[in-house]
Amino acid sequence: MTTPPKSHLFYQSRLRRPMLDQARGVYMWDLDGKRYLDGSSGAMVCNIGHSNEHVLEAMRRQMEKSTFGYRLHFETEPAERLAEKTAALAPDGMDKVFFVSGGSEAVESAIKLARQNAIALGEAQRWKVISRQPSYHGSTLGALALTGYAPLSAAFDPMMRPMPKIPAPRAYLDHLDASDEATGHHYADMLEARIRDEGPETVLAFIVEPVGGASTGALVPPAGYMRRIREICTKYGVLLIHDEVMSGGGRTGKFFAAEHWDVAPDILAISKGFAAGYVPLGAMVAKNEIVENVLDTGGFLHGYTYAGNPLACAAGVAVLDEIERENLMENATTVGAELKAGLNALMERYEIIGDVRGLGLFLAFELVCDRDTLEPLPRELNAYNALVDIAYDKGLIIYSRRTRGGYDGDHFLVCPPMISTSAHVGEILDTLDASLR
Ligand code: PMP
Repeated sequence: MTTPPKSHLFYQSRLRRPMLDQARGVYMWDLDGKRYLDGSSGAMVCNIGHSNEHVLEAMRRQMEKSTFGYRLHFETEPAERLAEKTAALAPDGMDKVFFVSGGSEAVESAIKLARQNAIALGEAQRWKVISRQPSYHGSTLGALALTGYAPLSAAFDPMMRPMPKIPAPRAYLDHLDASDEATGHHYADMLEARIRDEGPETVLAFIVEPVGGASTGALVPPAGYMRRIREICTKYGVLLIHDEVMSGGGRTGKFFAAEHWDVAPDILAISKGFAAGYVPLGAMVAKNEIVENVLDTGGFLHGYTYAGNPLACAAGVAVLDEIERENLMENATTVGAELKAGLNALMERYEIIGDVRGLGLFLAFELVCDRDTLEPLPRELNAYNALVDIAYDKGLIIYSRRTRGGYDGDHFLVCPPMISTSAHVGEILDTLDASLR
C-alpha cells in the first residue's frame, strides 16, 4: 500500500488509508492502481461523480478570469448566477442566499441570522434553538451545541451553551407504523411539549435534518411528522431551520428532501452535494422578510472571507446545470429503487441486517443482533469499522456510524453518486454480499 511512512498531517485518528491518485465518475484509484467504487460519494458529497468534464471546464474558464474577489470590494457574476439558481430551487419566498464554504458554516449562519431577526423584532429573549437527539449539525462550537451526539460535544460543554434536545423519531425501534400519521404526530408533539416547558417566549428556532444523515443513517421521518413540526413552529413563532446539508442536493430524488412532504422552512442550510466535492461551498437560504428585517436594523453581523468567491460559485453553477441537464434526480429515484430492492434482498439472506431504509440514493442498512428486538451488536465487535474495512479491501467504499435513535447501533450509508447505473448497483450489491459473508 503506497502510504508515506511518516506524515505531518493529522485528522481525528491515526487511521491511515492509501493515497488517492485519481477519480473519475463513480470510481477512485489509489497510487497502486487499485480501483474503488465510491459507494458513499465521499461523505454524501460527490453527487454528480468525480471529474465531471463540464464542471472542470467551467472552473478552468473562471480560473483564467479571477479566482477571488473580496465581497466588500466586488460583486461577481458567478455568485449572482448561483444565488439566482439556488433561490429558484428553494421554496417560494426564500430568495435570499448567503454563501459559505461548508455545512457547519451554513448552520452557524442560520443560527446567527435567526437570532438577529429576533433582536430586530424586539424579541431578544428568544435564544434557545431546539434540536434532536441524535443529530449532526456540524463541528463549529455553535453548530456543535445543536448536535445531538454526546461523544462529539461533551468535552466542549463548558465552552458553549448546549441547546435543548428532543428525541428524533425512531418508529422502527419503537415498533410503530411509520406510514401512519399518528406516529408522526406522536414524535412531533414532543416538540410542542418542549417549547412549552422551555417557555415559548425563549425559543428562537427548531433545527431538523429532513432525512437524518450521519446521525441516524438515512432515517426517513414518519408520515405527518414534517407537517406537524411546521405547524407547531408557526404556532409559537419559532423559526424552522432545515439542515439539508446532507439530504439536499438531489440525492433523495428532490433537490430538497423536505419537498417530499411539501413543507418549507424559514431558513435552509445546504452544502455537500451543492458543489459536489469540486470546491468547498455551502449556502444559507432564508425567507425574504427575515433577511430584510436584519439588513434594515444594523446589518447581518456575520461573514466568512472565502464566502461566495467566484471560482467556488462557478463550480456550483456548473454542478446545478449538470444535475438538470442529465436528469440526475430522476436517475437517483430509479437507480435508488434498484439499490434499495437489492439491499432488501440482502436483508432476506442475512439475519444480521435489521433494517433497510432511505429515499432515492440516500440509503442505509443497519446491523443488529436480533431482528425482532433490533438489539444492537455488542460495541466490542466494532462492526461498523469491520464491515467498512472488509468492503474497502474488496474495492467498495461505504460510510458507517455507530449511533441510532439515541442508542448504540451500527448503520451503513450506501449512497453512490447520482450518475450510478444498474451495473454499478450490481457491483455494489455483489461486493456487499461478499463482505457480509
Ligand atoms: N449538517 C449535516 C446534516 C451534516 O451531515 C454535516 C456534515 N456531515 C454538517 C452539517 C457539517 O458539514 P461540514 O462538515 O461541511 O462542516
